[in-house]
Amino acid sequence: MPVHHNTKQKALILEVLDKNRNHVTAEDVITLLHSCGEKVGRATVYRYLRELEEAGRVRKYTLGEKNTAYYQYMGEEDGCHGHYHLMCDVCGKLEHLDRTVAESFAKSARESYGFIIDCSKTVFYGKCKDCAEN
Ligand SMILES: [Zn+2]
Ligand SMILES: [Zn+2]
Repeated sequence: MPVHHNTKQKALILEVLDKNRNHVTAEDVITLLHSCGEKVGRATVYRYLRELEEAGRVRKYTLGEKNTAYYQYMGEEDGCHGHYHLMCDVCGKLEHLDRTVAESFAKSARESYGFIIDCSKTVFYGKCKDCAEN
């Protein structure tokens, strides 16, 4: 049954994302699935990642000259929705900014500009500690 087949593939993709919460590229997902002996087509992976992104369940980052897309699984409700993220544009490391930092930042934006920041879409790009030191 095509529907069944599809559901199983989606579950496998979600599992890979869940186990690699920091970030993965679509190619990483494909490689990881193949290394477990799972045959999931490249197009299926890309399509499903886009679906998840639209549903707000994964966040997409682009990095580097080729604008490689990285995906981060946000988990269910509480996961990574309530805070900002810091993305190192040298090594691709992703850090989760403390919720209290996010709240005070959001509060001053609201008070000064009347602007409501959407944490789930906000990422700060820069250099991580390790990359800044090198
Ligand atoms: Zn997070
Ligand atoms: Zn770095």
